[in-house]
Amino acid sequence: MSDTTSSSVKRSSPRHELNFGEAWDYAPAPESAKVTIEPRYGHFINGKFTKAGKTFPTINPATEETLSEVALGNTRDVGRAVAAAKEALPKWSRLKPTERAKYIFRIARRIQERARELAILETKDGGKPIKESRDVDIPLVAQHFFYHAGWADKLHYAFPGHGRGDIQPVGVCGQIIPWNFPLLMAAWKIAPALACGNTVVLKPAETTPLTALRLAEILEEIELPPGVVNIITGAGDTGAALAKHPDINKLAFTGSTEVGKILARTAAERGDGIRLTLELGGKSPNIIFDDASIDQAVEGIISGIYFNQGHVCCAGSRLFVQEGIVDEVVEKLRIRMQSLRVGDPLDKNTDVGAINSGEQLTRINDYIRIAQDEGAELHEPQASSNGLPSKGFFCRPCFFTGVQQSHRIAQEEVFGPVLAVQTFRTPEEALKRANNTPYGLAAGVWSDKGSKIFEIATKLKAGVVWCNTYNKFDAASPFGGFKESGFGREGGIQGLRGYVRL
Ligand code: NAD
Repeated sequence: MSDTTSSSVKRSSPRHELNFGEAWDYAPAPESAKVTIEPRYGHFINGKFTKAGKTFPTINPATEETLSEVALGNTRDVGRAVAAAKEALPKWSRLKPTERAKYIFRIARRIQERARELAILETKDGGKPIKESRDVDIPLVAQHFFYHAGWADKLHYAFPGHGRGDIQPVGVCGQIIPWNFPLLMAAWKIAPALACGNTVVLKPAETTPLTALRLAEILEEIELPPGVVNIITGAGDTGAALAKHPDINKLAFTGSTEVGKILARTAAERGDGIRLTLELGGKSPNIIFDDASIDQAVEGIISGIYFNQGHVCCAGSRLFVQEGIVDEVVEKLRIRMQSLRVGDPLDKNTDVGAINSGEQLTRINDYIRIAQDEGAELHEPQASSNGLPSKGFFCRPCFFTGVQQSHRIAQEEVFGPVLAVQTFRTPEEALKRANNTPYGLAAGVWSDKGSKIFEIATKLKAGVVWCNTYNKFDAASPFGGFKESGFGREGGIQGLRGYVRL
């Protein structure tokens, strides 16, 4: 289990950091930051890398340097990958479950063995702080494969009343993932699919393809049968071609609500009963009652919104504070935010790394301007203590007070380190406001009273509710949304349902 709140963790330095567990103290990254990156990458189809053909650059958002040129997948490439997955399906799905488990277990082991390299690559390609890649992302990737290796030969326990023969794979799975947790999202998709006997065509996001391609190398190393997992790189058009391919039997998507709606239409237009799961956006509330431990809650708020630069679908981006404690909470938040180190993601002391792309930085800055125009008050760290690097895409963490429910910053997903603070008087008011967005992915509740937490948690329209903590993830725990945050669950027994036909 990974704990991204830091209240219970002993500090190793007098300064505050976003903390992710005891492991954070181990060796720094920079001396090992030299990870080999090929100048060009082709797709991974039928167990081999193809020639790259037409490519696009993937850059390091912290330096704006091109890291590699990556193949731009077209309809033909997608067709080849789907054909390979279709061909591999009968053998893979009929393999003894214990054999499938061994392959998945080997992937998990190789990920552990190559963890440092994967963490550095993730940080270079995506901009997230190395301590997050190293202590959160990559360990969770390994955990996800280990967990699903365990399920491969026990599926009949997951579906009581069904014998082994009644549990069939769905077939060829098209999987499309975003850039905020690139390898972790790949693991969330691939591991359960393989455990249930499916084959896969995965498309990583265009700004972060490198760790998925490194995973392809791992699949080669562990001699996963050709065609069982294929990785196609490209942008939205490549994803659209995959979603429309008539030979995929399941489409699993994680990304924006906007694209999720397009894919829901695609699935409906196909009219062939394709299985669809959607993990989409969020605008999650973090609710703090006046009987909560305020110091602990402030740590949870900070982690909830500034972890991974706020590029988190379940980011606690709306803070609801009970009126009596608002001054204390805002003051503590201000002090704590000031202490966050923004900068080089490869520095192990960095708390807030680079924004994933120039486009995303523009979007965040637009929202900051809109919030000010709508009358909210901006609180940001003083520039002197938090100067931004001259190159790369960086943004200081900030929060707004004086936010009205109608403000766009209270309704729309910013996907950046920007927090909207509101107040409430009664639990009923907090609940009403918390549920008042089109989203329903996650929520946090902070109180000393278990009964109050339970009451609120059960009434929150959110797929995940964290109590007196935030951003805890575990492969055994299902994740997914209500309303426009999507449908279907990933992780846990519930996540297996998306990959079987009973
Ligand atoms: P995005 O929707 O722009 O892109 C996601 C993926 O879809 C990328 O691989 C992209 O190339 C592909 N894509 C884009 N247009 C497509 C189309 N028309 N057809 C098929 N594929 C297409 O999202 P993003 O900017 O990469 O990621 C951020 C979003 O992801 C946020 O909204 C965030 O909340 C969401 N997200 C959700 C979860 C979750 O579990 N609910 C997890 C992580 C991220």
